[in-house]
Amino acid sequence: MQINCTDRELFIFKKIANAAWDLNLPCYLIGGFVRDKIIGRSTKDADIVCLGDGIELAHKVSERFSNPTVSYFKNFGTAHIKLPDFDVEFVGARKESYQRHSRKPEVEPGTLEDDQNRRDFTINALAISLNKEDYGRLIDPFNGVADIEKGIIKTPLEPLQTFSDDPLRMMRAIRFATQLNFTIAPETLAAIEADADRIRIVSQERITDELNKIMLSPKPSIGWDLLFKTKLLHIIFPPMVDLHGTEFIDGKGHKDNFYHTLQVLDNICEVTGDLWLRWAALLHDIGKPATKKFEEDGWTFHGHEVVGARMVPRIFTKLKLPLNEKMKYVQKLVALHLRPISLTKENITDSAIRRLLFDAGDDIEDLMKLCKADITSKNKIKVKRYLQNFELVQQRLELVEESDRIRNWQPPITGEIIMQTFGLTPGKQVGLIKDAIREAILDGEIPNNYEAAYNLMVRKAAEYNLQPIV
Ligand code: ATP
Ligand code: MG
Repeated sequence: MQINCTDRELFIFKKIANAAWDLNLPCYLIGGFVRDKIIGRSTKDADIVCLGDGIELAHKVSERFSNPTVSYFKNFGTAHIKLPDFDVEFVGARKESYQRHSRKPEVEPGTLEDDQNRRDFTINALAISLNKEDYGRLIDPFNGVADIEKGIIKTPLEPLQTFSDDPLRMMRAIRFATQLNFTIAPETLAAIEADADRIRIVSQERITDELNKIMLSPKPSIGWDLLFKTKLLHIIFPPMVDLHGTEFIDGKGHKDNFYHTLQVLDNICEVTGDLWLRWAALLHDIGKPATKKFEEDGWTFHGHEVVGARMVPRIFTKLKLPLNEKMKYVQKLVALHLRPISLTKENITDSAIRRLLFDAGDDIEDLMKLCKADITSKNKIKVKRYLQNFELVQQRLELVEESDRIRNWQPPITGEIIMQTFGLTPGKQVGLIKDAIREAILDGEIPNNYEAAYNLMVRKAAEYNLQPIV
């Protein structure tokens, strides 16, 4: 093998090769697996291309293991086997041409060369023979290995043709550039700029898959900046573009919120691999363009956290991101992202601290991470001061939490208890009494326990002329 595989991988490939020999089908390892081995990245799946029926080969291979299920798509001629620690995808080599304005390729059987021609990038077109006569030989018609060494993303054929055949490849180019920290070749990049508009025919699911892969890269700003510069971003995510630029009035400017956002995103990526905390960082200032005003002292973005939080569901819907608790989490962090800053001022009461613990709940640590990532000043002294301030906020959050247990707060007196005590049915009074108890606890007027809450309930109820019935 001209690549370094694990013993387990070699064992699997030998079995595949034997199955293919039985069927007299030439076959090859191809694409991402070969690329990642040469780069030295970890691998957990491989693609096999054969000159014939990939589904038939998959079934033969399955027989040689303990008959794992073969899932296959007859229309596409692809098949998939899930081994305990490794996935293998099979496909017959093909020639492919897409019709303009259509998402569906016209496919016909082809040679290995045809198949390599329809791959998206030179680094993704590398193949390793699994055939008897040259088992393990690397077949690299487009100098993909040299491009890996140079760190270049380049289409094997004329880029406009490659992108026109499947415009998602434009997003893939940017995604690989981001994941691998590679450069997109100038003519390939120019073709993306020229053809950006064609991204419109690609389904949102495929686009968003690429966005999430960009987001999970070590430095996602590379990808977002490329999306912006090629103007793909203008089509797939206009609210991000609105963050770009600086406006001046009377010589006073504001910071470029697009590049500030990307810096915050990269900062958070150093402390979390969590996709949703990363999305929260990307969206934290998304409400700024809509709230921007020039006032006496300069530019303001009052309420941008509220407007931004309101935009989150629309953005998630448009991007087909999940509309579940992940969305709620992102929305919450956007809404709260200024609160810890307000707690760095002097004379902050325990009550303000309790309210943040109550509102953030178990997401308080993530919120603090976001706030720290939001510090993008170039002035080292300022950065140090801000971080120290947050350190103090954090200490107070811990102290107050230790004594008052607010972050997973459950009312010590429930609506049930209120109704039973006063013989009430569900209604406005029950809600008012509950609210009064919560406010008194958060304000520190009473301790967070049953007895104190019970006494307050009785006093409050008396205001409505209610007496305990037992
Ligand atoms: P990853 O698995 O990290 O997303 P990959 O390169 O393995 O990266 P896959 O989507 O798994 O990407 O595809 C496997 C191979 O199939 C690629 O390496 C490439 O050769 C080819 N391929 C995938 N999608 C396309 C496409 N849209 N156009 C052309 N070739 C593609
Ligand atoms: Mg893959």
